[in-house]
Amino acid sequence: MRILVVDDTQLMRSILVEWLTAFGHQIVLACDGAEGLEVVNTQSQPFDMVIADWEMPKVTGPELCWAIRARGDSHYPYILVITASEQVEKYTEALDSGADDLLRKPLSRAMLWARLRAGERFLGMQRELVRLATTDGLTGTLNRRHFLCLAAEAVARSGSHDMPLTVLMLDIDKFKRINDSHGHDVGDRALVAFVSACRGVVGEVGVLGRLGGEEFAVLLPGVFPGAALTLAEKVRRAVAALSLPLRDDEALGFTVSIGIGALAQGEGDIAPALKRADIGLYRAKQAGRNRIRYERA
Ligand code: GH3
Ligand code: MG
Ligand code: MG
Ligand code: MG
Repeated sequence: MRILVVDDTQLMRSILVEWLTAFGHQIVLACDGAEGLEVVNTQSQPFDMVIADWEMPKVTGPELCWAIRARGDSHYPYILVITASEQVEKYTEALDSGADDLLRKPLSRAMLWARLRAGERFLGMQRELVRLATTDGLTGTLNRRHFLCLAAEAVARSGSHDMPLTVLMLDIDKFKRINDSHGHDVGDRALVAFVSACRGVVGEVGVLGRLGGEEFAVLLPGVFPGAALTLAEKVRRAVAALSLPLRDDEALGFTVSIGIGALAQGEGDIAPALKRADIGLYRAKQAGRNRIRYERA
């Protein structure tokens, strides 16, 4: 795990670093609560766990918990607070401040290790739930809800940095026919192969999501419509080149139609760009399918 250790005592920091490193974790150190908060607020990579002393000058352990929880990071950090106190109120206060667990001083190596395992168990479940809630079970792409969430964030970034944002809407052609002729299982395989082809082209440039059924979208932050058109053409070709092996040495091929829309100046919502991409998609279908249409704002 990537762990932030926040303690104002040199000795405690040394002990924690020695033990945590021996357990195989990656450690970042902060010398008090204020520095801990600074590290959290400027982190380039989120922490899996924060281990914080309760008694610290300026920003205490529970205050640090509050501040971390107030950020509402989607990557939930597990927080373990350490205290020398035996007062029950301290336990309840720490937990109410957002800590997940509390550890008493003097520290025991075995107890710390056990608490870390409990934390890892919790984080494992939490990360799995997030994965299930954000991805599509069949194809592994982002699901509609998460795609639209990321799109809203991209729109905000695009507005504040004055950057282009383009979106592709993709719909597999005559997909119902695949199901009807070869069965739903082959339709499912076609969807998986389609996503793999899209990923191969889009890579890290875009964010792929399944809007529903055989309809997908690609979010292209920082990409102008001209470049998006080139990318869409590569996707179209990659899909048209797919050949899904069937029984009896047969193979299945299919095509995709793509609509393109871009965020217009001053638009603070992805919906109009998606609408334009959808209109482009409709025009591509009308024009005979297996083609791309860009709908201007
Ligand atoms: P068009 O070229 O106009 O897009 O025609 P189409 O047949 O692709 O469109 P239509 O909307 O008529 O049919 C889409 C089909 O996709 C209907 C639905 O049963 C199927 N479908 C949706 N989700 C899944 C899925 O997860 N697996 C499979 N196998 N089929 C799916
Ligand atoms: Mg202290
Ligand atoms: Mg279709
Ligand atoms: Mg459709």
